[in-house]
Amino acid sequence: MRIVVLTGAGISAESGVPTFRDADGLWEGHSVDDVATPEGFERDPDLVQRFYDARRRAVASVVPNAAHHALARLERAFGDELLVVTQNVDDLHERAGTRNLVHMHGELQRALCAACGARPVWDADLEPRPPCPVCGERMLRPDVVWFGEMPYDLDRIEDAVVACDVFASIGTSGSVYPAAGYVALASACGAWTVELNLEPSDALIPFDDARAGWAGELVPAWVDELVTARG
Ligand code: NAD
Repeated sequence: MRIVVLTGAGISAESGVPTFRDADGLWEGHSVDDVATPEGFERDPDLVQRFYDARRRAVASVVPNAAHHALARLERAFGDELLVVTQNVDDLHERAGTRNLVHMHGELQRALCAACGARPVWDADLEPRPPCPVCGERMLRPDVVWFGEMPYDLDRIEDAVVACDVFASIGTSGSVYPAAGYVALASACGAWTVELNLEPSDALIPFDDARAGWAGELVPAWVDELVTARG
């Protein structure tokens, strides 16, 4: 049974990483236009670098929660039949043990060199404009996909969504495309679709099963069902 799990900021909320659409449409007090677009970076690069430096430090100080651990357990049971596609830029899935993972919106723990395209692993601040370890230019930015930029690994993700038997969406508002369109694609290709979210999302089509509640409770229970059914 092939499974694709799409995760969003809601799965990391109980670890203490704030989501951005729950309260006021701001991300940690900043408008998305200012901190999550190429134009915002052009206007005020130091502000944007400091913003992601703070996010990188904040994520380093928290730990995966029961939902991340449950998905790692699902991978141990299903192996390569499971692909986790995350919109999150934190590294809580991999710290919980998930390996078959795509970060479609990039990673806080990497930098992207605007000069040579290198994507070095990065755990320090970028605000003092350090040189790229590959080409030496001081043009590193966070390796985070901003609005208007192309997400990573779209071909791999779409192939998995088209081929899956079960598609689960966890902790995502369903308002950022192309991720928000995957449920419709999976459904059209015959998959069983399930949503685990604090509240019903903005998805264009209804899920076959929609469960409302905390990811830290819903995800372990759902994983138990799948693992038990597999026997
Ligand atoms: P979002 O903030 O738009 O939506 C979060 C969703 O999670 C909401 O529908 C909310 O009801 C739900 N939710 C909140 N707490 C929950 C909980 N405890 N259990 C279950 N559901 C819960 O997030 P999004 O859809 O992922 O889109 C936001 C974009 O912002 C993403 O592209 C992501 O890259 C970025 N972002 C990432 C992080 C992170 O890496 N942790 C944090 C904030 C924003």
